[in-house]
Amino acid sequence: MSFKNFIKEAKIIQAIEDLGFTDPTPIQEKAIPEIQKGHDLRAAAQTGTGKTAAFILPALTRLVESPSKGTGPRILILLPTRELAMQVEAETAKLCRHLPHIVTACVYGGVPYYVQNKKLSKKYDILIATPGRLIDFLKQKKIQLSRVEMMVLDEADRMLDMGFIEPVEYIASLTPQSRQTVMFSATYGRKVIMLAEKLLRDPVAIKIAPEVREQSQIEQHLHHTDNLDHKYRLLEHLLADTMINQAIIFSSTKAQTEQISNKLRQSGLDAAALHGDMNQRQRTRTMQLMRDKKVRFLVATDVAARGIDVQTISHVINFDLPHSLDDYIHRIGRTGRAGSKGIAISFTSYKDHQLRKQIERFAGLQTTPAAVAGQPADRENRKFRPRSGPRTGFQRGPRKRTSFIR
Ligand code: AMP
Repeated sequence: MSFKNFIKEAKIIQAIEDLGFTDPTPIQEKAIPEIQKGHDLRAAAQTGTGKTAAFILPALTRLVESPSKGTGPRILILLPTRELAMQVEAETAKLCRHLPHIVTACVYGGVPYYVQNKKLSKKYDILIATPGRLIDFLKQKKIQLSRVEMMVLDEADRMLDMGFIEPVEYIASLTPQSRQTVMFSATYGRKVIMLAEKLLRDPVAIKIAPEVREQSQIEQHLHHTDNLDHKYRLLEHLLADTMINQAIIFSSTKAQTEQISNKLRQSGLDAAALHGDMNQRQRTRTMQLMRDKKVRFLVATDVAARGIDVQTISHVINFDLPHSLDDYIHRIGRTGRAGSKGIAISFTSYKDHQLRKQIERFAGLQTTPAAVAGQPADRENRKFRPRSGPRTGFQRGPRKRTSFIR
């Protein structure tokens, strides 16, 4: 599935390509067509699934395809916190970058009113707001909602946890009955369902499983490494395994991505790099080569961490760890797709201490020294004992340190 299947506007497609999104995420694939058909929607999806673009994109197609004159927002996005408001505003700005006539206003607490007043005094189409601040502006008659065509409730469960049930209902009551309502919530407890029943009409319900937390089909391993040279030797050793169908190797910098893929090619392996300095045509071409199995090893920065759904990727190797547990979850979610088994192997070093602990907790595993025969991490072996437990398909021979080829 490509974005072009449901987005016809070239300027929106251009913005999507600028962002490096190659394929829609599962929530986008399911939600966008339903929203475009005009249905109310009740979606269970967490942050990190691409849910923001799942509602912004159909909102933009609506604004582009049926322009209308008048003042006041046509799209209202309600969300619980200032941070989320800023995040959604930033994502909207990126997706609108080639549509200068579409204007967004954003209001949330903790900022002087006059700053936001300025923006509200001009024409705008999309309003992103936290309930409390929006109600302040409604009382001051600085905003009126009679033109709202689509109302989005983002992170509805969090809004209710924060006590916004009445404000949300009050705000909804000021919008036209004919509006379309789209609700995103990570969880659907009793209160959220009650709110959905009040505000949504015959909603289509969709559910996206959290990327990995519930996926047991990804076998995860963490190995300590000493330095770059050790990582390279370990990588070479791992990639010699014939069990690897296709792998993504994540590295933290664009330059290193190129270096690794060059090294692999010099060793006679089918490898290609994917990173943000490549133009969209090159990126799309590389992904197509991966899909066509003409490339076996994709060496990528985090541009490849989300949204890529290639079912033949059997392994993810984190040559460097990412910045956060969320990014880690996204990266390893590139394998084990569509019910198949996957293996995720991560190299860690001393500087990764914090994140390593988080991953250990998340995955219920313990870091082992790089226990591939002949490639142990020197210093870590003094601190960590190899544990007994699941082993990677790569560990050959006895687990105990047999040799220290360095
Ligand atoms: P969200 O769940 O909306 O917070 O999105 C999480 C991250 O995924 C954001 O950084 C988005 O820019 C990114 N994202 C959204 N859609 C895609 C896509 N189709 N491909 C790759 N990344 C995406």
